[in-house]
Amino acid sequence: MRIGILAVQGAFIEHEKILEKLGVDYVEIRQKKDFTGIDGLILPGGESTVQGKLIKKLGLHEEIKSSIENGLPVLATCAGLILLAQNIENDSTVHLRTLPVTVKRNAYGRQLGSFLTNSNVGEIADFPLVFIRAPYITKVGSKVRVLASVDNNIVGVEYGKQIGLAFHPEMTGDNRIHERFIHNCIS
Ligand code: GLN
Repeated sequence: MRIGILAVQGAFIEHEKILEKLGVDYVEIRQKKDFTGIDGLILPGGESTVQGKLIKKLGLHEEIKSSIENGLPVLATCAGLILLAQNIENDSTVHLRTLPVTVKRNAYGRQLGSFLTNSNVGEIADFPLVFIRAPYITKVGSKVRVLASVDNNIVGVEYGKQIGLAFHPEMTGDNRIHERFIHNCIS
């Protein structure tokens, strides 16, 4: 099994370290030719506007979008969630649009919007949630499962094999969400 990690910008190295700990093979997706032979995809945090522009420029946009629509499992964190979202409340640019949710970028404020809390994430109990200039989800489609909420704001969802999180599980030392994602990639 091999996981692709979008590595054009942002916090991709932290995801690589977790996959190394789990003994899972991965490839950095930096250009179109890297996007082949993968069983799952990680979209990391970072700056969604920059990432969105780069995947278009590199000719990756359509390939990523159609692979996800055809069932490629994806784990998207923070900016990655924004890339997947069907609608963005406070931005006119939308990206892959494979996940039927509306997100609000920088929803906790730009400067003071970083914090740490704990919550259940689906079946995973008491997971540490790290937020860094995070979005949250303001609307979900009818088939979207809510995995986690903080103060009544949705911060984690699942839709088919797409997992979208407003927080950063790769920065916690807790591997359980990545293990769950890897499970999606096997089955
Ligand atoms: N604020 C960033 C954006 O809108 C996301 C922040 C993150 O990925 N940590 O793209």
